[in-house]
Amino acid sequence: MLERGRSPFRGALCHTGLVSVSRADLLEAFRRRGRQLWVVGGAIRDRLLGIAGSDADYATDALPDEVEAIARELGAPVTTVGKKYGTIGILVDGRWTEITTFRGESYTAGSRWPDVRFGTSIEEDLARRDFTVNAIAENAFTGEQIDLFGGAEDVAARIIRAVGDPATRFREDPLRILRGIRFASQLGFTIEPRTLEGMRATAHLIETLSQERVTAELDRMLQGREPARGLEYLRETGALRYALPELEPMVGCEQNRFHKFDVWGHTVATVDAIDVGEERRLRRWAALLHDLGKPAVRHPKPNGEWGFYRHEVVGAELAAALLDRLRFGRREAESVVLLVRRHMDRPDPDDPKAVRRFMARLRGHWRDLLALKRADNASHTYDDREYHDRLEAACERVEREEAELLRARSPLSGDELMAIFGRPPGPWIARVKERLSSLVLDGELAPGDKEAAARIARELLESQRV
Ligand code: ATP
Ligand code: MG
Repeated sequence: MLERGRSPFRGALCHTGLVSVSRADLLEAFRRRGRQLWVVGGAIRDRLLGIAGSDADYATDALPDEVEAIARELGAPVTTVGKKYGTIGILVDGRWTEITTFRGESYTAGSRWPDVRFGTSIEEDLARRDFTVNAIAENAFTGEQIDLFGGAEDVAARIIRAVGDPATRFREDPLRILRGIRFASQLGFTIEPRTLEGMRATAHLIETLSQERVTAELDRMLQGREPARGLEYLRETGALRYALPELEPMVGCEQNRFHKFDVWGHTVATVDAIDVGEERRLRRWAALLHDLGKPAVRHPKPNGEWGFYRHEVVGAELAAALLDRLRFGRREAESVVLLVRRHMDRPDPDDPKAVRRFMARLRGHWRDLLALKRADNASHTYDDREYHDRLEAACERVEREEAELLRARSPLSGDELMAIFGRPPGPWIARVKERLSSLVLDGELAPGDKEAAARIARELLESQRV
């Protein structure tokens, strides 16, 4: 998949051993040929916002063949995967940088992919861009800025505004609707009323987009800094119905006295509240889908209240089908589904067996589940924090015990290891013991074989693998 301005070779350079060119050399090569070079898009926007380090993208009047020739002359690593869209990737100062020929593209209405035409001026190129905050250019040689649509003002006012007539622009490429909502979430910006109106009028066209493009935008939106804002915009514009129709029944699905909001409001609050830790993607998606089963299972209880018996079971099935439709990777989808399935688990923290069973079911995701349970509780009418703290402490205790048990199988004790290697105590002991213990568990080391254990420990320490 290749979107305008976004390509698979994005990101910092890994250790490929390639030699990049310097920005100064690149500029000089373009200048020598009398070519224009403009810094455009996200880099300028982010700099105005005080966010440093965004990838610099460039626009130029040189055609892709010439850009490629320039890069090859400089001996720079080049990628041409985006060439038919006008983009050449060049490694500049160690980062992949995109240089795109001016656009003057025409879109075939209803097509899944934009059809590209090249333009002749930076002004024409900027007029083809999606939002004013993304349509500022800076001359790479002189620093002169061109801001034809009031982009800098909109950055200052934190506004997403379409360039030109919103509905027309969204009809040309309906992905822009989702991009606008994604930027609102990522940047914490407000969508300007006419732009929002244009989104509403064209939201149905989201159905004509390829699933990959839609999923990529939803995913980035959900991982933004204000996902609640993005989710509410999805609902408000009607884009929810076309991008995530499975979630629509949550809207207006009333709950019971344990809840402050309907299922949708509660879902948004949970996404907003979840502590993402180092599992931003997993936890945000799990929060979004944890109550997906509720509308389908809602039933009146004898006391007249709504009940949601087994909603986590039905929800897990619905979540699996949804993630499959979105083309999520299998492993990631499985983890999300597992969290949905188990979010009602409530083991007794004082019962070690129950806690162990809980942890085993979660297959390494108990911390993620606890984060979900805490966030879920944030918009309940009761406070379960004390229970969650106790459960967390119990899980940590089990984890510590298991690590100790594992280390206890090591043929060499900590004292013996220190004596053999003449090293002071430290975390290295636990690591060596864990390795030795797992070899014992795997049957590769006899439990009493201290000699072999010492040999293996020496290798580990020498190779600095522990
Ligand atoms: P980020 O890289 O942080 O997501 P960005 O603004 O750089 O933000 P890209 O997707 O990299 O976003 O696109 C680069 C630029 O290309 C945008 O700033 C915008 O000017 C333009 N652009 C990208 N996609 C579209 C589109 N579908 N329609 C119009 N212009 C677009
Ligand atoms: Mg970009």
